[in-house]
Amino acid sequence: MRAMVLDRPGQPLQLRDVEIPTPGPEEVLVRVRACGVCRTDLHVVDGDLPDATQPIIPGHEIVGEVVSGGERVARLTTGQAVGVPWLGHTCGTCHYCRHARENLCDAPEFTGYTRNGGYAEYTAAHQHFVFPLAGPPEPSAAPLLCAGLIGYRALRIAGPAEHLGLYGFGAAAHIVVQLARHQGRHIYAFTRAGDSAAQTFARGLGAAWAGASEETPPRPLDAAIIFAPVGDLVPAALRVVRKGGTVVCAGIHMSDIPSFPYRILWEERNIRSVANLTRQDGEEFLALAPQVPIETTIEEFPLNAANEALRRLRAGEISGAAVLVP
Ligand SMILES: [Zn+2]
Ligand SMILES: [Zn+2]
Repeated sequence: MRAMVLDRPGQPLQLRDVEIPTPGPEEVLVRVRACGVCRTDLHVVDGDLPDATQPIIPGHEIVGEVVSGGERVARLTTGQAVGVPWLGHTCGTCHYCRHARENLCDAPEFTGYTRNGGYAEYTAAHQHFVFPLAGPPEPSAAPLLCAGLIGYRALRIAGPAEHLGLYGFGAAAHIVVQLARHQGRHIYAFTRAGDSAAQTFARGLGAAWAGASEETPPRPLDAAIIFAPVGDLVPAALRVVRKGGTVVCAGIHMSDIPSFPYRILWEERNIRSVANLTRQDGEEFLALAPQVPIETTIEEFPLNAANEALRRLRAGEISGAAVLVP
C-alpha cells in the first residue's frame, strides 16, 4: 500500500510502498477512505511529543471500511463503516481504566503516534477502539474523530457556560461552535490578530462575536476553551473569564505559559487541561453529531500531499479541517 511515513521528527513525510498491515487476533484491517490532518500530527512531526514510535505513519482521524478481521473479532463485520480515533488501546487494568478515566491510562497506545495511523491506504485498529459509523465513511466525517471528539470533551469540561470563548478557530472550534449553538450557548471566537477570514468564518457558523485574541469581548465570559497551542492565551483568557469561570486548554502541547498576576486567577477561576478521549466520549459525540447536525468544512488533499496539508495547517491557511483522501 502507499503510505506517508515519518522516519524521524523534523523531517518531511516520505511517500512509501509498505506492506498492508496484518491485523492481530483482536484487530480489524480498515481501508482508509479519508484521514483528517490534526494539529497533533504537527506536534508528532515536529518531535514535540515524547516517546513516539519511529518510523510512524501519522493520522488519527480515520474513516473507512472494515476489510478483514483477526480470529477473535466478533463486534464488526466486513464492509462496515468505522471511525478510528486517537485512543488506539488502553490497558484496562490501571487505576484510570478502572475508574472511567481511560483517557489517562498508564499504558495507552495512540493512533498515528505510537501505532501506525491513517496517512495510508489501510490501517489496522483494535476492534474495541473503533467506532461504527451511522453513515458512509465520507471525508467530511473524518474531522469528527478528533477535532469533534476533543472539542466535545473540552466543551463538557468547560461546564454549563452560556457565554463561551473559543481561542483558535480551526477544525475543533468550527465543530464546537455548531454543537454549542445547538445547546443555546453564545460563542465568542478569538483568532490571530488580523485574521479576518477566520473571524468571518466564525460569524458565519453562528459566533455572536469574533475578534483578535488580545481583544476584550463585549461581556465577561463564563468559560473559554483554548485550541491554539499558544501559552500566552492562558492569561489572556483568564482576564476575560468572570469569577468562578474555567479556562480549558484542549491541546496536547502548548508553548510555555508566561507568568501572570495571581489576581486574574483568584476568585475561583480554574485552568484545566483536556487529555485524549474515552470511548464513551466518542459514542456520545458521534450519536449527537447527526442531531445537530454538524456539518464540517473540509479541504481535501491527496495522500501524497500530506506535507503540503501540514504546512498549510501550520500557517493557519486551512478554513475548517484538512483531510487526506488516499
Ligand atoms: Zn489503563
Ligand atoms: Zn487530533
